[in-house]
Amino acid sequence: MMKSSQVRGIIFDMDNTLLRSSINFQIMKEQVADYLIEHDLLPVGFAIQEHTTSTMIAYVKAKGMPEESYTEVMKMVVQHELIGMEGAGLEPDVSELLDVLMKSYVLVIVTNNSYKAAVHALETTGIHPYFDLIIGREQMEAMKPSPSGYLAAKQHFPQILESEWISIGDSWIDGRASIDAGIPFISYGPNGHLMKEKGITPIANIDSLLKLLDYV
Ligand SMILES: [Mg+2]
Repeated sequence: MMKSSQVRGIIFDMDNTLLRSSINFQIMKEQVADYLIEHDLLPVGFAIQEHTTSTMIAYVKAKGMPEESYTEVMKMVVQHELIGMEGAGLEPDVSELLDVLMKSYVLVIVTNNSYKAAVHALETTGIHPYFDLIIGREQMEAMKPSPSGYLAAKQHFPQILESEWISIGDSWIDGRASIDAGIPFISYGPNGHLMKEKGITPIANIDSLLKLLDYV
């Protein structure tokens, strides 16, 4: 088993890593894509299955997106997030894991969710006090898979060395962002095959959160 030399900071993705939300990411993505296609911002036949909502929006933004379209699309996203976060619960073993980790590590969340929605969900589920820093989409230059959220976390804790970070998430966008920020990545859950397709090599793939303890 590969073990990092020394870990002092751990960055978590939130949705479906710590929290089991019921955000319907598929419907969200389809609704956003429909809007973008209708407004001639995306070509008909755009390969949406290769994108997440955030990468699709980033793609359109890079080509030049009217401010009002961006506002409109983000309204749709927020609506899905609000509905999906209602009654969000914890992934199995989250409390046990955080109880152990909080004594010895700096714990950070980097989420594409809005900061307010994230804090609300973390407070509702009772795990907000465990975290030293929460970075929502407003705190990053660009959403994951951009590494900017992870880089912001590193900057916030200059006492933690480059080599002392590790991150965990369930989606390939977490892996891309983390690795591009120079942070080794552990994938959680059943999306391992998608990581490979996207050229992402996690240092480990775990199916239970407590297994993270083997790598820190
Ligand atoms: Mg996630």
